[in-house]
Amino acid sequence: MKLNVVQQDEGSQPWYAEGLKFTCSQCGNCCTGGPGFVWISREEIVRLAEFLKITPEETVEKYCRKFDGRFSLRERRTREGMYDCIFLKEQDVPTPAGGGDGKSVPLRRKMCSIYSVRPLQCRTWPFWRENLASEESWDRAGQRCHGMSHGNRTFTREELEAVRDSKDWPQNPPTSAPKKE
Ligand code: SF4
Ligand code: SF4
Repeated sequence: MKLNVVQQDEGSQPWYAEGLKFTCSQCGNCCTGGPGFVWISREEIVRLAEFLKITPEETVEKYCRKFDGRFSLRERRTREGMYDCIFLKEQDVPTPAGGGDGKSVPLRRKMCSIYSVRPLQCRTWPFWRENLASEESWDRAGQRCHGMSHGNRTFTREELEAVRDSKDWPQNPPTSAPKKE
């Protein structure tokens, strides 16, 4: 018995050949929802441990769970019945000066607290194979991630496929949220 393989015509273009827009607003939507897995490799655990200034063993004990021989970040059940990634935390976000007195008003919102060392799975979102499978899949994922198909940044086919296929993470992945002043 063999698997059916859908042959792609040589030279045929994927639906996203003209590129796709994505700009992360750090809304945190992709870090909560139903229960799921955020896989983290041993190498990433070591990087995370350095960031947290604890040992890799403590990092595993406090923040990871083992499933099927692999590690995933723990989740926290919210009062609303959602499953937040353990590193999704309420933080002050500086907003542009907008108050009547011209001062910046800090806003509290849930954001990734380990953003600079988040695992590859988070760094490559939303250019996952399943999201790129079809325009419908992309649009479906975009209902929760409002950075998809929005913003000023357009990823070319080559750029987004490089993110999709990356095996290790660069320091500053192109999918990162723009730096706030
Ligand atoms: S990737 Fe999308 S859902 Fe996740 S924080 Fe950024 S804009 Fe929000
Ligand atoms: S590590 Fe950060 S970006 Fe990844 S799911 Fe957790 S909170 Fe979200």
